[in-house]
Amino acid sequence: MALRAGTVALRVIWTLVRLPSRQTLLQSGILLHSRRNTSPCCPVCERPSLPRRSAVLNYALHACPECRLEFLDPQPDDSVLAAIYSDGYFLGPGDEAAERRSEMKAATGALYVDALAKLLRPEEVDLLEIGCGHGEVLLEARKRGFRVSGVELSAHAAAVANRRLGEPAVSVGTLETLPWPRERFGAVLAADVIEHVRDPEGLLQRIRDLLIPGGIVLLITPSLDSWTRRLLGSRWIEYKVEHLYYFSAASIRLLLERCGFGEIRVSPSRKILTIDYISRHFDRFRVPILSPLIGLVRRAVPAPIAHRRLLVSASGLMATARKAGPRQTR
Ligand SMILES: [Zn+2]
Repeated sequence: MALRAGTVALRVIWTLVRLPSRQTLLQSGILLHSRRNTSPCCPVCERPSLPRRSAVLNYALHACPECRLEFLDPQPDDSVLAAIYSDGYFLGPGDEAAERRSEMKAATGALYVDALAKLLRPEEVDLLEIGCGHGEVLLEARKRGFRVSGVELSAHAAAVANRRLGEPAVSVGTLETLPWPRERFGAVLAADVIEHVRDPEGLLQRIRDLLIPGGIVLLITPSLDSWTRRLLGSRWIEYKVEHLYYFSAASIRLLLERCGFGEIRVSPSRKILTIDYISRHFDRFRVPILSPLIGLVRRAVPAPIAHRRLLVSASGLMATARKAGPRQTR
């Protein structure tokens, strides 16, 4: 008996000695960046138990079986995200490729603004864009009659936007830091923003506070219902460490309802892209087989075709919703 107990003790000690460190496991990708033993609740529908399906660069990805929200938990800390959002992340005007990218953003922004203009009278509306970058979308909005404001984290991007707009319409900061009064805007547009924030419900509640009754929010975000997600599965190009949440039509609808919005419409979003841009994107965010294949196509087609604008429905959804109150329909 004593011998058996001694053997077990030795085995335990040997096992402990042989265990690689947490750092080694993290580096090898064996251990996920998780401090939890249990799955967290879905932040949208609060279903208690969530299976972990896969990981995004070692960050545990949880999927809600009820509303199909996916999210990273635990989230990357601020230093990890700050390193990702370095100066190169928000590419702006400058060289020829950047100018073309800016024109594409404007053309895509025109699609978003036109969607808003179907729900409101632009000439009567103060529009706020969250994360307005270099102001391409705001310029399109102003052309259609909206009075425009923007909020942007990057001071450099905000300065470029204000220069382009010819007025100090863009403020540096976040919705939390800027002192706008309640019910200040008739429309709020946030394209490719909600998947980046730590608290999407808090963001939508703040947007709701800023909107007048009857005001409209327009969101663009990657969609789990998109054909690219279905095709690429766990290799989907939108699975990135800086994307903390991944919505389906059902989960974005549910979250908007929870935050007091009605008249919710969700549809695949469309963007204006070129073969050249798609090739550069896949070169930056590599996907096995697909990235080399798209690179081949880019090299095979002549420049005029590579730079021709295409209307593409790829990986996103567009959601519009109205804050309850007196209507301002067209
Ligand atoms: Zn859920």
